Amino acid sequence: MRVGMRGRVLSVASECVPLIKTGGLADVVGALPAALAVQGWDMRVLLPCYRNLRAMAADWPDVLVEEGLWGGTGRVLSGEVAGLSVLLLDAPHLYDREGGPYAGRSGDWADNPQRFAALSWVAARLAREGIDGWKPDVLHAHDWQAGLAPAYLAYYGSGGCASVMTVHNIAFQGWAAPWMLGDLRLPVQEFHPDALEYFGQLSSLKAGLVTADRITTVSPTYAAELTRPEYGMGLQGVIAARESRVSGILNGVDTAVWTPKAEPVPYAVGDMGGKAANRAALCATFGLSVSGPLAIVVSRLTDQKGIDLLPKVIPEFVAQGGGLAILGSGDPALEAAMAALADRFPGRVGLRIGYDEALSHQMFAGADAVLVPSRFEPCGLTQMYGLTYGALPVVAAVGGLADTVIHASPAAMATGVATGISFHPTDAVAFGQALRQLVALFADTAAWARVQRNAMTHPVGWEASARAYAALYDGLRR
Ligand code: ADP
Repeated sequence: MRVGMRGRVLSVASECVPLIKTGGLADVVGALPAALAVQGWDMRVLLPCYRNLRAMAADWPDVLVEEGLWGGTGRVLSGEVAGLSVLLLDAPHLYDREGGPYAGRSGDWADNPQRFAALSWVAARLAREGIDGWKPDVLHAHDWQAGLAPAYLAYYGSGGCASVMTVHNIAFQGWAAPWMLGDLRLPVQEFHPDALEYFGQLSSLKAGLVTADRITTVSPTYAAELTRPEYGMGLQGVIAARESRVSGILNGVDTAVWTPKAEPVPYAVGDMGGKAANRAALCATFGLSVSGPLAIVVSRLTDQKGIDLLPKVIPEFVAQGGGLAILGSGDPALEAAMAALADRFPGRVGLRIGYDEALSHQMFAGADAVLVPSRFEPCGLTQMYGLTYGALPVVAAVGGLADTVIHASPAAMATGVATGISFHPTDAVAFGQALRQLVALFADTAAWARVQRNAMTHPVGWEASARAYAALYDGLRR
């Protein structure tokens, strides 16, 4: 049910589906506006106008011009895409480049601090002054790329606009050399450990954390973990000092896009026939023949995701009848390790290096399980896709993985609430044990069907989270 108009939010980020994506951040930024509209919050998204967006925005009108934006003029263009109200910061000297949002062929852009300072600078001006009568009540900054926006509001005047800083992953902190303080338009007197200084450097994420009115992160468990040194990555003290302003709100998934009802061979709870057909198609795609559980990994191949554990646990899993299809890209050493694993177990382990959204859908539709052995995981999306598709999540019990998967413990099985398997700590012993449990559960057809049904009916949409964000914004409206 739609409620009356409650207020306006300017969401500021470096990625947004369907315009530009490198990870889950883009999914969240792209999904929030529609979810919040239902709650009566009118959200517009401000993004850099990267090269891939220029043609689309060629005839969008200017709504704001900013001279002297780190070596050129910036123009904010306004348009609608796929139901989203989008503001693009067109500053060709900063964003019109061959490559990704953060890096070109030879690595990270050297001027990333300035590129995202510019985004944040213009965001703060939009928040303070509004455009064409649209004046936000709240500026919502996502990750380090937008971290300076709350800081600019705090240091240059907020115009009555409140700010929220959301941490999607504290591993990315937006460091800059201390001598850039002036260039980044930050006040020199704020360069101390309680404000902008981070171990002798500047961190734009820290700037946002110390200046925003509220801090959120993307799961309640990650919010608690962030106050501890193992997870806080040097910022645990900052988070702990502001604990009363910190909350964890789980991400949702777009259930119109991520549903087995929309796959080539649709299926649903109570009508699971299509799952077998999708499984057969998945086996064919990866050249697999598997009698036990068919697991998938769809992931960045990085240390965070625990990918290095796979060569240690998969040989036993394969010996027990399991199979694995991997889709991902990332660290070259991990890509090579996955290739070696696939070579070692032809017909049982298949690999695609790359990023392929369509293939990922096919994989969730056909899989029996999805493996997410992360060392830390702010929220995680693939375990939620796994729930919806009845591809039971096997997850490390950290961050959002702990908040979204109910482990098939004896108690959870007896009370009929289990939705997957979780393990702790993130190591090969616990992961191996979890895979043995998966194999045993798969062999017990009735128990498997019960857990699969629970998983598929577990709510993973945005509704509850949108209500939580709306309540947070309500509390900030001045
Ligand atoms: P993170 O943002 O840390 O990478 P998340 O689980 O929050 O992890 O989000 C990752 C998103 O990217 C999911 O939508 C996942 O399906 C997608 N993804 C990751 N790797 C691939 C890939 N190789 N091909 C297709 N989609 C991928």
